Amino acid sequence: MAETSQWDYIVVGGGSAGCVLAGRLSEDPGRRVLLLDAGRNDRHLYTRIPAGQMYAFPRSDMNWLYMSEPDPSRGNRADIWPAGKIIGGGSAINGMMYVRGHRSDYDHWASLGNEGWSYDELLPYFRSIESSEVGDEHSRGFDGPLSVSRVPIKNPLNDAFIQAAQEAGVPYNPDLNGDSQEGVGICQASQKRGWRHSTARAFLAPAMKRSNLKVQLGAQVEKILLEGDRAVGVEYQLQGRRQSTRAARGVIICAGAIASPQLLMLSGIGSASQLQEHGIHSVVDLPGVGQNLQEHPVVRMSFHVRNATTLTSDLRNPLRALLHGINYLFRGRGALATCIGHAQALARTRSGLDAPNAQIIFAPLSYDLTEDGPRPYRKPAVGVGIGLCHIQSRGRIRLRSATPGHHPIIDYSLLDDPDDVAQLREAIRLTRKIFATPALGNYVVDERIPGAGVDGDGQLDEYIRQESGLMFHPCGT
Ligand SMILES: Cc1cc2nc3c(=O)[nH]c(=O)nc-3n(C[C@H](O)[C@H](O)[C@H](O)COP(=O)(O)OP(=O)(O)OC[C@H]3O[C@@H](n4cnc5c(N)ncnc54)[C@H](O)[C@@H]3O)c2cc1C
Repeated sequence: MAETSQWDYIVVGGGSAGCVLAGRLSEDPGRRVLLLDAGRNDRHLYTRIPAGQMYAFPRSDMNWLYMSEPDPSRGNRADIWPAGKIIGGGSAINGMMYVRGHRSDYDHWASLGNEGWSYDELLPYFRSIESSEVGDEHSRGFDGPLSVSRVPIKNPLNDAFIQAAQEAGVPYNPDLNGDSQEGVGICQASQKRGWRHSTARAFLAPAMKRSNLKVQLGAQVEKILLEGDRAVGVEYQLQGRRQSTRAARGVIICAGAIASPQLLMLSGIGSASQLQEHGIHSVVDLPGVGQNLQEHPVVRMSFHVRNATTLTSDLRNPLRALLHGINYLFRGRGALATCIGHAQALARTRSGLDAPNAQIIFAPLSYDLTEDGPRPYRKPAVGVGIGLCHIQSRGRIRLRSATPGHHPIIDYSLLDDPDDVAQLREAIRLTRKIFATPALGNYVVDERIPGAGVDGDGQLDEYIRQESGLMFHPCGT
């Protein structure tokens, strides 16, 4: 075969992880690295201008748009599970919220026997990947490839939310990615001078001139080639032709939490009995492949406001919209440069927890969910998205068929565990407490969603089950 061991490493999937890996592996000129991604290039304003994310989302040339099975915990609703189909993967179409996570999350991993994964051991890596606009020398990095900036827009409502959360008992935190993750503060975003800074831009672009790195887009990997139980190469489709190539030192699968287990199963790695159902020869009987799927639920709230300009009302005014455009063009700031949230509180909704369990994300805008996607709400209103940090529910990815082009089955009961619902309910009540403080008193008119009348435990639980959705963070498979 002409292409026998043409590469040392083949990286499958040029998303958030794959771009970093290909960039870092190819730093050594002695290593020949091939990065294969099924998606397109990122030369498109929707994937470069932060506000373009809502236009990138519905596009099947940028988003895999996987579809889940009906979810019994939410009235059998089925959801789109988005995933970037583009170099940079999720980081090219996501909400750009930069959230490092809590120290105890990593220490828990280490306590389970994962050597090297404690927060203190990871801190040098966290610091080395970023150039942060925020934070102190001990916990943040200032000369790494990925630019992390403050949300580049000012609005008195953001400040009022931050003040209000403090009045409701959530401490102020000037750096939510510092040593302590708890508290309320301004959001941070993976952005550089007002542009989205995907991992493709941050880690891969600087490596592209290296002669030992090749990036092939439009290459859908269909099978990992195995010799015994050792991965030695891959088979992929490129422009309608099946090709194969080999790696002498490693095949690294980072096609995301949905496609990675699918590819493993198509290659004979997974539960032997399930593979048999699809006529796939089992090479390694590994029942965990595709199991343990986890996702963050999110439930939204909205409040009518007065005495302030929201982003939605700003953008409906042609002159104000023009000013936002000019602000973006010349300063990389304003409405076009914002990520999905402006301020957020990472808070505990109950006593006895050693870390925040709720993420309350605030933005001075509100929208209606219609069949055609989100539409700006006409009256002045602000929005809140409430997510959970640690969920109990678990789902799974299974093969739909042995055909690589068929999307896998996503089985997920988002609110399977009653305690996840209880925590969301508590977080709604905490958010109400925040919106009832004097700091927001000058602004708040009333609660728009779900509405003050939805108040008892049963009513709130019903609202949560009817309306909650996904935060688009699948992992664990
Ligand atoms: C709409 C949206 C909003 C989000 N918002 C945020 C946020 O604000 N903050 C945050 O931290 N996270 C957010 N996330 C999550 C975050 O983007 C993902 O967790 C992260 O990108 C996952 O990285 P990954 O490398 O595992 O997979 P991905 O980034 O998904 O990369 C997988 C890559 O593999 C490629 N691929 C798939 N199958 C194949 C195949 N068979 N052959 C070849 N290539 C293949 C894909 O095209 C893709 O480029 C969001 C995600 C989405 C989709």
